Amino acid sequence: MNIKMILPALTEAKSPFWRPIKYSLFPPLGLATLAGYLDPDDEVSICDEHVENINTNDRPELVVIQVYITSASRAYELADHYRARGSYVCLGGLHVTSLPDEAARYADSIFLGPGEDTWPAFLADYRAGSPRSVYRSGTRTLAQLPFPRRDLLKRRLYLVPNSIAVSRGCPNNCSFCYKTSFFKGGRSYYRQPVDRTLQEIESLPGRHLYFLGSGAGFRRSRSGFIDIVDKIC
Ligand code: SF4
Repeated sequence: MNIKMILPALTEAKSPFWRPIKYSLFPPLGLATLAGYLDPDDEVSICDEHVENINTNDRPELVVIQVYITSASRAYELADHYRARGSYVCLGGLHVTSLPDEAARYADSIFLGPGEDTWPAFLADYRAGSPRSVYRSGTRTLAQLPFPRRDLLKRRLYLVPNSIAVSRGCPNNCSFCYKTSFFKGGRSYYRQPVDRTLQEIESLPGRHLYFLGSGAGFRRSRSGFIDIVDKIC
C-alpha cells in the first residue's frame, strides 16, 4: 500500500509577517508514530508543509492529513484534490474532533480523538475492504505504541529533530482549552512507561534531547511512568 501523510501548513506559517523558524522547530511526531503501525512492505512518506513544498501530482492509495483549526482550509483543499485523484482520504486531529460534521464532508474516514486505538483499527478494516467513515477513540494507552518512524522525517529541516513525546493530553483542565473535547470519552492524560522512553532515547543520534508535551519537567514516578513536575502550556 502506498500512503502519504501530510501536515498542512498553518495559515500564519505562510505569512511573511511570521517567523518560519517557529514552525520548523519540531518534526511531526504524531504522523511518524502512526506510520509506525504500518506493515514493512507499505510505502509511506511524510510531508510537512511548514518546511517543504508538497508535490500534489502523485496518486497515493491512502492520504492521511492532520488538521488544526488554522490549517483546516488548506487541509480540506488537499483532501478534495486527492479524493478527485482517486485516493482514500483520512482526516484526524484537533479540528476534526471539534467539528466532525464539517470534516466528514472532505474525508472518506475521520478520526475523533487520539489515534493510538483508532488508527490500527482502521488499517485492519481498510485492508479487509470495509473501512468505516468514523473512528472514535475510546481506549487510551501508550502500552503498545510503536516507535515513531523517524527514518521518514527530514531531520535536517528541523531545529530540534531529537524531540520526544512521552505523554498524551494534560493533567490540567482549563475551561478555554479544547483538550477536553479531543480526549472526550476516555482518559485525558496518560503516559508511557519509563523503560520504553529510555529505549527511544537510546535510539536517537546526538546528545541533544527535547521533551514535548503539556509540561516542562519530568520525573520517574513510583509506578514506573514519567510524570510532569512543572507545567507550561
Ligand atoms: S494547561 Fe494547557 S493543555 Fe492543559 S488544559 Fe490548560 S490550556 Fe489545555
